Amino acid sequence: MTRAYNFNAGPAALPLEVLQKAQEEIVDFKGIGMSIMEVSHRSKEYEAVNDETQQLLLELLELPAGYKVLFLQGGASTQFAMLPMNLLTAGKVGSYVMTGSWAEKAIQEAKLIGETHIAASSKEGVLHIPALSEIEIPENAAYLHVTSNETIAGTQYQEFPDTGSIPLVSDMSSDILSRRIDASKFSLIYAGAQKNLGPSGVTIVVAKEDLFNNAPKTIPTMLRYSTYLKNNSLYNTPPVYSIYMVNLVLKWVKEQGGVAAVEKANREKTDLIYNVLDNSGGFYEGLAQKDSRSIMNVTFKLQTEELEKEFLALAKKNGFVGLGGHRSVGHLRASTYNAVPYASCKALVDLLDEFKRTHG
Ligand code: PMP
Repeated sequence: MTRAYNFNAGPAALPLEVLQKAQEEIVDFKGIGMSIMEVSHRSKEYEAVNDETQQLLLELLELPAGYKVLFLQGGASTQFAMLPMNLLTAGKVGSYVMTGSWAEKAIQEAKLIGETHIAASSKEGVLHIPALSEIEIPENAAYLHVTSNETIAGTQYQEFPDTGSIPLVSDMSSDILSRRIDASKFSLIYAGAQKNLGPSGVTIVVAKEDLFNNAPKTIPTMLRYSTYLKNNSLYNTPPVYSIYMVNLVLKWVKEQGGVAAVEKANREKTDLIYNVLDNSGGFYEGLAQKDSRSIMNVTFKLQTEELEKEFLALAKKNGFVGLGGHRSVGHLRASTYNAVPYASCKALVDLLDEFKRTHG
């Protein structure tokens, strides 16, 4: 069996052990003579998966009582709208830190719902996260929204602001469970699953239970967080298989030694790559400002587009996938999510070294 060196940005690599477990259980889940895809979402078998997955996530995020996990659909992109629909009530503003493409998308959706405000912004043309001291939150803010990891730019918050009584919310689509954080600082976290949590199809929301007490009554049922809260995410048919896969991935994270162990591995993986870029004498160049570098998406460039094309062709020939930058920025990107093994990153730096030796 040959597995690709998978650096896809999302959907992305899943742990081999998880895929093998899913393979084992696909015809007969725990002796029921069916897969989990083929049973009612109201069966005791599925309900056990549903409940356990929520518990695992709360445990891995080390959250105190008072938080709930919701399973939704529509991707993180739907959350860009659902969040302000539920929280941006009359007389309030949605305050956003503008850090790149994904923050921008969140802001554009919120503008369709209500008044928005930019609390801080990255400098034009610089891939970085603004200093926490630059963040200004208006008193009537319904929330402060941050994008913990900008998947396209390759930038990541190194620490998070204190927002006092104003709810802090984050799009953590591309770095949830990649490192230990104080998750209790956040009133709400959302993430599409298809990077660190599992396959696409399910969107995770982790929120304080009492956050939605003032949500407008006019929100359609499926777009109201309280619908999911009250019904244990079983108001309608959830994406059962995606949630089952998230369950397996979360168990895998635990088996690795939890988030702290995964963080250590992620730092080792990205240190390896950033070191090669930084010590290449300018042959390679990291795109993100050093103090904002992501341990999930390493963005970099070569000196010419021709060299980048040649590098990508060599990479493809050697079994690497997903190293092209996002279509909006070009250049190169290696996404090193939790399930990307150290061996893939080692193979990548060997390839970078070899390419520099033969083309430098
Ligand atoms: N936010 C971030 C940070 C992302 O990386 C992505 C997807 N790449 C999204 C939001 C959009 O997610 P989805 O495709 O699940 O709507």
